[in-house]
Amino acid sequence: MNEHILTTPAGETYPILTGAGLLQSIGTRLAEIAKPCRVMLVTDENVAPLYLDTVRDSLASAGFSVHPHVVPAGENSKSIPVLGELLEAMCEAHLTRSDLAAALGGGVIGDLTGFAAGCYLRGIRFVQLPTTLLAAVDASVGGKTAVNLVHGKNLAGLFHQPIGVYCDTGTLNTLTPHTLADGAAEAIKTGILGDGALFAIYESGDPAQSYEEIIARAVAYKAKIVAEDPTEKGVRKLLNLGHTAAHAIEILSDFSVSHGHAVAIGTAIVTRAAQKRGMLGSDAAARIIYTLRRAQLPTECPYTAAQMAQIAALDKKAAGTGITVILPVRIGECVMQKMPLADLEALFSDGLEGQS
Ligand code: NAD
Repeated sequence: MNEHILTTPAGETYPILTGAGLLQSIGTRLAEIAKPCRVMLVTDENVAPLYLDTVRDSLASAGFSVHPHVVPAGENSKSIPVLGELLEAMCEAHLTRSDLAAALGGGVIGDLTGFAAGCYLRGIRFVQLPTTLLAAVDASVGGKTAVNLVHGKNLAGLFHQPIGVYCDTGTLNTLTPHTLADGAAEAIKTGILGDGALFAIYESGDPAQSYEEIIARAVAYKAKIVAEDPTEKGVRKLLNLGHTAAHAIEILSDFSVSHGHAVAIGTAIVTRAAQKRGMLGSDAAARIIYTLRRAQLPTECPYTAAQMAQIAALDKKAAGTGITVILPVRIGECVMQKMPLADLEALFSDGLEGQS
C-alpha cells in the first residue's frame, strides 16, 4: 500500500492511497475522513457491473447511505445534459452540504462527478475512486474537473479538490489493452516531464508488473506540482505536455481517438518539433517515440497542422492571442514556451515532419 498526502497552498490536504483490494474496505477508509452521510455514488455502465456492489456494500456497512447513479460509458457523458441529470439526482437524493459524492470509474466519471460536486449547492465534498490507469496516474489527482461543450473539450469546469483518492490496483485487471495504453500515455508523459525512472519502466521494464510503482511515482510528481500551483497559473502548465494537439485530435476525430491515444500523438508531435528546433537531441527524441510505440500507442497524426491549429485556438491554454506550449529538452525536463497563436501551425508542421 502506498500513501501520499497532498497539501495545497490554501491548506486543503487529502490522502492518495494506492493498493490492491482498497475498494473492499472503502467504507472504513472513508469513515476515517468523513462522518456517515449520504453518498451520491457515480459510475458508468461498464464499471457498475464490476465494482458498484462492492463499493456500495462497503460504504453501507460503514454507516453511509448510498445513492448510486449510473451514466453511459464514454467521453460523451462529460456533457451538459448528463451533468444536469446528475445534479437533479443529487436533489432527488436530498444531498446537503454535509453529504458527498464519490466518482467510481475512469477520468470521465472523475471529471463529471467532480464538476457536479463543485457546483451543487456551491460545492460539496467528493472522493475519487479511480478504476483506469489514466485516472489513477493523472485525472483523479489535482482537482481539475470539467465537461465538454460543443465548441471544445473541458470548456466548462472548475478547480475542486477531492477529500481523498483511493486507487484499487485490482481494478486494472479488467481493463482492455487499449485502455491500459491510454494510462501509459499519461505515465510516459510524467516520465518525460520529471521522472526518468518512471520513463525507464516503459522504455525497458515490465509495466504490467509495476503498476503500484508507476501510480505512486506519477502521483508523487503530480502532487508536487499541484501543491505548488493548484490553479495552473504557472508550473502546472507543464502537465499539459502534448495536450494542445491532443485536444484538437480528440475533437477532430469526434472523440473516436481516446484521450490517452491523442496525448501520445500530441507528445510525439512536440517531441519531433523540439528536435527539429534544436531543443532536444535526436537520441532522446527517438527514445520517446520508441517508448510510446512500445506501450502500443500511436505516434502518427491523421490530421494536418492547419486543422489542429484552428481547433487549438479555442483551447483553454490559449490566452488572448498567445498560447503556452510545452516542449521536451531532455527525458526528465520540459520547458514552457509562450508563442503567438499564429505560430502554432508552424510548430505542428515541424512536429508532423519525419512521421514514418
Ligand atoms: P474513461 O473514463 O472513458 O474510461 C475508459 C473506458 O474504460 C470506459 O469505457 C470505462 O467504462 C471503462 N472502464 C473504466 N474502468 C474500468 C475497469 N476497471 N474495468 C473495465 N472497464 C473500465 O476514460 P479515461 O481514459 O479513464 O479518462 C479520460 C478522461 O479523463 C478524458 O475525458 C480526459 O479529458 C480526462 N482527464 C482528466 C484529467 C484531470 O486532471 N482532471 C487528466 C487527464 C485526463
